[in-house]
Amino acid sequence: MSKELDRQVAVVTGGAQGIGLAIRTALEEAGARVAVFDVDTGPAPDDALLKVDVTDEAQVRSGVAEVIDRYGRLDVLVNNAAITARLAHLFGQPALDVSVEDWRQVLDVNLTGAFVCAQAAARRMESGGRIVNVASVQGLVATGGAIHYSVSKAGLIMLTRSLAGELAQRGIRVNAVAPGPIALARTAPNTAPVDTLSGEWGQPEDVAAAVTFLVSRAAVFVNGHVLSVDGGVSVRYRNQV
Ligand code: NAD
Repeated sequence: MSKELDRQVAVVTGGAQGIGLAIRTALEEAGARVAVFDVDTGPAPDDALLKVDVTDEAQVRSGVAEVIDRYGRLDVLVNNAAITARLAHLFGQPALDVSVEDWRQVLDVNLTGAFVCAQAAARRMESGGRIVNVASVQGLVATGGAIHYSVSKAGLIMLTRSLAGELAQRGIRVNAVAPGPIALARTAPNTAPVDTLSGEWGQPEDVAAAVTFLVSRAAVFVNGHVLSVDGGVSVRYRNQV
């Protein structure tokens, strides 16, 4: 039986672990051939994993060229790579304590990296291409702390809308997902309290399912949209911490 993404080729940035790995798996299950761009190539050899730093334009261009050499085409880009809560020291800081060096690094990876990848990929995509940016609830509401991360994700949301407007003439759709708290082994045990409407953590597969929908035929009329995958956390008023 044919699958939704049969004969399609996708690049997932930051797909070596966490949510990106779940997105890779979901796209493969939907029939796509997936290449991963990551700075961390993991302990075991993996042909699909290319060592590409998303902030390095030359590396990104040659990564895209390698994918097209290997698979003949590029249909989907998922901009998932980011400096995340994994770097815990960046996250608890009040704005007045954030160093300009950390600010630049987070903006560089989370926002400029996505722009660099989108530019390189869109230049090589045919009509029908799709880009999905992995933003965050923190790009939609001010949660307090990690101002550089929040601003990078807010920027990613406007990157999504701006690119959707410009790339429509090339037949390329651009959307975003905005995950809330997703349980990864390192972020928190599933039992820690969380402020979603159900009180439950999301799973990486929940984000992957939303990305898979946005690149599917069912979403052909969805463009420039930001799909929250946050257990409703963003609809609640909460004092800043
Ligand atoms: P993670 O830290 O587990 O994975 C991020 C990946 O990006 C890693 O494999 C890392 O090596 C890679 N990466 C970092 N810098 C890179 C660079 N310069 N070039 C290429 N790859 C690079 O993160 P995660 O929690 O799985 O998050 C994935 C995405 O989801 C991120 O965009 C994050 O902001 C977003 N998000 C996560 C959560 C959550 O609760 N985990 C919530 C909202 C949004």
